[in-house]
Amino acid sequence: MRFSKLRLTGFKSFVDPTDLIIADGLTGVVGPNGCGKSNLLEALRWVMGENRPTAMRGGGMEDVIFAGAATRPARNFAEVSLQIDNSERLAPAGFNDSDNLDIVRRITRDVGSAYKAAGKDVRARDVQMLFADASTGAHSPALVRQGQISELINAKPKNRRRILEEAAGISGLYARRHEAELK
Ligand code: ATP
Ligand code: MG
Repeated sequence: MRFSKLRLTGFKSFVDPTDLIIADGLTGVVGPNGCGKSNLLEALRWVMGENRPTAMRGGGMEDVIFAGAATRPARNFAEVSLQIDNSERLAPAGFNDSDNLDIVRRITRDVGSAYKAAGKDVRARDVQMLFADASTGAHSPALVRQGQISELINAKPKNRRRILEEAAGISGLYARRHEAELK
């Protein structure tokens, strides 16, 4: 599963629609402090279904919406769209009609989040499963936050196992077993 483009609109500091083209060979994003580098990674995590405000460095989920600046009013919604190269047709059944698969998440103030995959309304869980089955997602070990290495070292064994399961690509199965146990 190859990510090809990330589009942010009203997400944190990216008030106007901004495209990050994830071209072959992209190895780094550089810029001065506070220009939005970490916000880009948070947008990626968020569109894959992250639901913990702490992982987004916020107090509540709506904190990802552009909060306004001296010259610009706050926005009412934030949207992130992730374009996935699906030319190998590896997406789950129902999402395999085209070479590109677009996943979109939008949060509206006082309404909450809504997701779309390939233009269809889907649940947060569908998006989370799609990425978990591809061994990626909001909790993917490929996304390492600042401070996360020391958290891993200090983690309780159960939490450390969760990280290893993500790395082994079996967390989709884990989520399904958990759901089966609840039924
Ligand atoms: P560093 O090099 O220090 O790690 P960075 O490039 O990673 O910096 P970010 O942390 O991505 O920077 O961006 C921080 C900026 O995003 C701050 O200027 C902050 O005010 C802005 N920001 C965060 N949330 C919002 C929001 N909801 N609305 C407007 N601006 C926001
Ligand atoms: Mg940063």
